[in-house]
Amino acid sequence: MERIKCLIIGSGPAGYTAAIYAARADLKPVVYTGMEPGGQLTTTTEVDNFPGYPKGVDGPSMMVELQQQAERFGTEVRIGHVTEVNLSNEAGGIHTAVVDGATKIEAETVIISTGASAKYLGLPSEQRLRGGGVSACAVCDGFFYKGQEVAIVGAGDTAAEEATYLANICTKVTMLVRRDVMRASKAMQHRVNNTPNIEVLYNTEVDEVLGEQVVEGLRMKNNQTNAVSEIPITGLFIAIGHQPNTAIFKGQIDMDDAGYIVTEGKSTKTNRPGVFASGDVQDKEYRQAVTAAGTGCMAALDAERYLGSLGAH
Ligand code: NDP
Repeated sequence: MERIKCLIIGSGPAGYTAAIYAARADLKPVVYTGMEPGGQLTTTTEVDNFPGYPKGVDGPSMMVELQQQAERFGTEVRIGHVTEVNLSNEAGGIHTAVVDGATKIEAETVIISTGASAKYLGLPSEQRLRGGGVSACAVCDGFFYKGQEVAIVGAGDTAAEEATYLANICTKVTMLVRRDVMRASKAMQHRVNNTPNIEVLYNTEVDEVLGEQVVEGLRMKNNQTNAVSEIPITGLFIAIGHQPNTAIFKGQIDMDDAGYIVTEGKSTKTNRPGVFASGDVQDKEYRQAVTAAGTGCMAALDAERYLGSLGAH
C-alpha cells in the first residue's frame, strides 16, 4: 500500500495553502481534490477581497493559480474523493484513507480541508439562477448589487450580519424570516431593526425567484395568511446556514453540535494525533478564502512540527 507523509483532503484555499507550505517543508503532500475541485470559490464569479489581486480575479482562475503554486513545489494533486478514513489514535500512528471507495492509502499526517457547503432552499427557480443573481455569500457578491434592491432569506446571525452589510451597499434590503421571530442574537436583531433601508418580513417564505437569465424579482408567500406578493429585486441572498463536509469523520474526530471540527486552542490540531483541520470545515464564523488559506498554512506548520516531534522529519 502507498504510504505518504502528508495527505490533504480537499482543494479549496485551505487545502492548497496547506499544500504549498507542506511541499516547501518537503512533506511531499498529496491533495485529493474531492467532488468539487477548487472548492466553493469555483462557483463564485469575481473575487475582489483576496489580497494580492488589485484588479480582482475570477474564482475558478484563482483556484487554478493556487493549484499551480502548490504543484510548483512538488505537491501531487489527484482527482479523487476520500470516501472513508481510519484515523489512528496514537502519536506516530498511521492513518488510512480510502479513495473513491477503492484505493487505500496510508498517511503519517492528515490535513482535513473538506470545507462547508452553503444550504439552499431547493426551489428550481433558485437553482436555475445561481450565478445569475442568486448567491449564498453577501460578502463575496454584494458589491455587484451596489445601488440596487436585493432580498435576503434567513434569520440567524449570518443573515442579520449580511443584511446590514448589504444595506450599506444597496438601496433596499428585504429580509425574509420564516417564523415570527429571528434566531439571531438580540444585538444583531437590534442592528437590523435600526437600519432604515432593511425591511423585515416575518412569516414569509420564497415562493419563486422571478427572471429567466438573471433575477428580476421575488414572489413571496406569507405562511400564516397564504397571501402572495411580489417585489422587484436584482439579487437574492440565501443565508440559511452551512453544512460542514464532515460525514466521513464522524465518530473519529471531535465535532461541535453542528458538525464543525473542533480544533485545540489557536492550533489546527484535532483530537487525533497527526490529524489537523483547516478552512471552513473548522470555522463557522469567518468563512473567507483568506482566513481559510491562513489556517491551511497553520495546519501544514502543525503537521511539520508534529513529525519533527516524533523525530520522523
Ligand atoms: P443558523 O443555523 O444559526 O441560522 C439559520 C437561519 O436560517 C435560521 O434563522 C433558520 O430559521 C433559517 N432557515 C433555515 N432553513 C430555512 C429555510 N428553508 N427557509 C427559510 N429560512 C430558513 O445559521 P447561521 O449561518 O446564521 O449561523 C451559524 C452559526 O454561526 C451560529 O452559531 C451563529 O451564531 C454563528 N455566527 C456568528 C456570527 C457572529 O457572532 N458575528 C456571525 C455569523 C454566524 P429558523 O430560525 O426558523 O430555524
